[in-house]
Amino acid sequence: MRSPDFPIAIIGAGFAGIGTAIQLKKAGILSFTIFERASEIGGTWRDNTYPGCACDVPSQVYSFSFEPNPNWSRGFSEAPEIQQYLLDCVEKHKLRPHLRLDTAIREARFDEAEGIWTLTTDCGETVTARVVISGVGGLVDPSLPDIKGIQSFTGELFHTARWEHEIDLTGKNVAVIGTGASAVQVVPAIAPEVNKLTVFQRTAAWVMPKGDRVIPEKVKARFRRFPWLQRWVRSLMFAFSEFLGFFIILHSPLSKLPERVSLKHLKQSVPDPGTRAKLRPKFEFGCKRMLISDDYWSTFARDNVELVTDSIEEIRADGIETGDGTQHPVDSIILATGFAVGLAAAPFPIAGKNGLSLNDAWSKGAVAYKGMTVSGFPNWFIIMGPNTGPGHTSVLVYTEAQIHYILQAVKKIIGDDLKYVDVKQRVQDTYNEGIQGRMKYTSWSAGGCNSWYLSEDGSNHALFPGLASEYVMRARRFVPSEYHLVK
Ligand code: NAP
Repeated sequence: MRSPDFPIAIIGAGFAGIGTAIQLKKAGILSFTIFERASEIGGTWRDNTYPGCACDVPSQVYSFSFEPNPNWSRGFSEAPEIQQYLLDCVEKHKLRPHLRLDTAIREARFDEAEGIWTLTTDCGETVTARVVISGVGGLVDPSLPDIKGIQSFTGELFHTARWEHEIDLTGKNVAVIGTGASAVQVVPAIAPEVNKLTVFQRTAAWVMPKGDRVIPEKVKARFRRFPWLQRWVRSLMFAFSEFLGFFIILHSPLSKLPERVSLKHLKQSVPDPGTRAKLRPKFEFGCKRMLISDDYWSTFARDNVELVTDSIEEIRADGIETGDGTQHPVDSIILATGFAVGLAAAPFPIAGKNGLSLNDAWSKGAVAYKGMTVSGFPNWFIIMGPNTGPGHTSVLVYTEAQIHYILQAVKKIIGDDLKYVDVKQRVQDTYNEGIQGRMKYTSWSAGGCNSWYLSEDGSNHALFPGLASEYVMRARRFVPSEYHLVK
């Protein structure tokens, strides 16, 4: 398809943006630009460079189905290898000429008469686009905890997503605050090199064994020789994760099974009953994101690692004071405190039809049709938008479905010479009533925990309350009658 006068703006050069660009190119649509605020592509895999950082979804599934990599070195690849995979995709598909790095979009405004989006960059430059595809990600900006006295700490203090590589932790007394998906990777990675590691846990989380292995050369050779074999392995792994979805997503007695597996893992990893009791979660499996690690819990059996479960009262110049009055002197504090979740709000001011702001449209919670389109914001497509996250499988399954859907919409707009497509409000409302209606049956809402999945009012605008295959089925076809098609 030729598209010389059809500028498309992709915002963000992570998995979503790169995958979209590859598929646009494959469809012969070359008039796109990828705007990326950082100096390199990669998103999460560029930013998270902490020791131990790796994927907690098998690499066979955590990669594009249309760009298989037979050379993954491990079952769960480490961050640099995933970043290299994305860099290789960019080179292979010659995407560099389409990239505008170091360019943050600060504002977007839709001109209804012309059917054009005007984007303003951080340099004040304006660029126009007929279609905007937003792939900015939801877990980008570190969440810095508002702990009393944090500014007064005189040692080193940094967030896992902004690792300070020039700081040598060898032989130091180090604190890690937080026990989520980042912490379970960084804690075992740094424990052997520091003098003392104190882990501050607010909420104990369920951990499943990872079973990570080096992939032998002969397996890689077979994947290279028989691509169908790798596709088959991928399908099997995906099917297995979908099966696990029943145990993770639903608020039901089924969650007892993974809890039993996890508790066995805890018993095998931590000999001391007192420490085990502190590490045992008090909410239903799946309610928070399940953690996967072979060596996180066993790290607490080390002599130089202490688990602190008393709440943090204050950070002082030389350490951390907990509610029981204990002082924990430390040289360095690592914040494994997660991200300021960007799913509930526009990433920057976005004005759609009649100047309607996306934040106003989302004042009662972020909603979109199938997580991708918002009524009143024509030709604006979101990848990994509201209610499209998984709690049990690879996010890329959803991302690929969305890319496929958006491509159909773009082809429709170009093919029928439309000014814009705008999802009907009724269609969007009906879809979201269905999504929200199912939330009460999920472990995320009824499992007795608080997590980044939930907004302040307890509603869930982050995850899809079903299996990935259901989402893929529902997003497989762009249905023109669900949209206002304007010539
Ligand atoms: P997270 O899951 O939100 O965990 C943050 C941790 O910090 C929690 O244990 C939280 O305690 C604690 N915390 C936050 N504020 C605190 C405070 N003021 N005082 C004490 N503790 C505090 O963040 P994350 O570990 O960075 O993971 C976020 C998401 O990123 C994951 O759910 C996952 O989707 C993604 N991720 C993926 C991978 C991967 O391998 N693919 C790796 C890392 C992260 P509470 O539990 O009590 O709130």
